[in-house]
Amino acid sequence: MIHLKTLEEIEILRENAILVSKTLAEVGKLVAPGVTTKALDKRAEEFIRDNGAVPGFLGYGGFPATLCISVNDVVVHGFPSDYELKEGDIVSVDCGTIYKGFYGDSAYTFPVGEVDKETAYLLKTTKEALALGAKQAIDGNRIGDIGHAVQSYCENRGFSVVRELVGHGIGRDMHEDPFVPNYGKAGSGKRLKEGMVICIEPMINAGKKEVYEQENGWGIATSDGKKSAHFEWTVAVKKGAPDILTTFDYIDNI
Ligand code: MG
Ligand code: MG
Repeated sequence: MIHLKTLEEIEILRENAILVSKTLAEVGKLVAPGVTTKALDKRAEEFIRDNGAVPGFLGYGGFPATLCISVNDVVVHGFPSDYELKEGDIVSVDCGTIYKGFYGDSAYTFPVGEVDKETAYLLKTTKEALALGAKQAIDGNRIGDIGHAVQSYCENRGFSVVRELVGHGIGRDMHEDPFVPNYGKAGSGKRLKEGMVICIEPMINAGKKEVYEQENGWGIATSDGKKSAHFEWTVAVKKGAPDILTTFDYIDNI
């Protein structure tokens, strides 16, 4: 069941979205060789609580941390740990908040120091694919228009789209209907309506699309061991143009 949001609810979702956006930038300031992923998680939790909100992922389905931190071949849902980031790594940071009874959700994949050319291209492509997908989030379009935009852009550049995990609606629950796949046919699927708020989150692999679940029962990693990138925005569907509630501007200004 899809919950359409009122304008007031969208403004609360925007407050959450801005807070997760700022939190990702706080984390981004710390990303460097030698830093543990646990240290990133600690900073995020402090920042979220200092701003009067609660981490959205901590305890969600038993998840043990504030951030999902997924390094290199880990696609999503990695645990923060004592692992020290190394020059050339990429680190996906996925952040959630709860504030005034609603959720925020956004993700960004940071390069650690200098990354190789193909990896930089993967990050750039995934981020651009997110923007292209979000552009389709307008009243009257269909869910498949979003997936098609993401998939065609990434596959044309030689990358592959993870099928097992998808974007989602967001509101009083972190994961609401509808599912928002990063693949699909233009003009197919549920019709998008003003008042829907969705998370679009391409998970794009440098190599093959296949993934597996790691032994901790959470982490999802690429089967071929190649790197994977993940970017996510929360977007309110509007007439004419999407209202993108999250922003990477804080990260761009680090
Ligand atoms: Mg997320
Ligand atoms: Mg999400």
